[in-house]
Amino acid sequence: SLMITDECINCDVCEPECPNNAISQGEEIYQIDPNLCTQCVGHYDEPQCQQVCPVDCIPLDPSHPETKDELYQKYLKISGQA
Ligand code: SF4
Ligand code: SF4
Repeated sequence: SLMITDECINCDVCEPECPNNAISQGEEIYQIDPNLCTQCVGHYDEPQCQQVCPVDCIPLDPSHPETKDELYQKYLKISGQA
């Protein structure tokens, strides 16, 4: 999963780009649900939120390390294919 740091400026451009609806507005900044973020595996070659974020505040979440295969399994589960 990726995560959004407190450098987020609440610009809202990432939220509609997420194919898994993993991004939502939190109390102070936007947030990513680690249960829904596949790092865009299954949908795109690159994380779409990272591509559009104007302040580069969406790094890998060190507390949710996942292999590409684990991310793909998550994608299958979320999309009802597993
Ligand atoms: Fe959504 Fe992809 Fe960003 Fe994860 S990496 S939050 S799946 S846009
Ligand atoms: Fe925050 Fe970046 Fe998303 Fe804008 S694109 S809401 S700055 S995380």
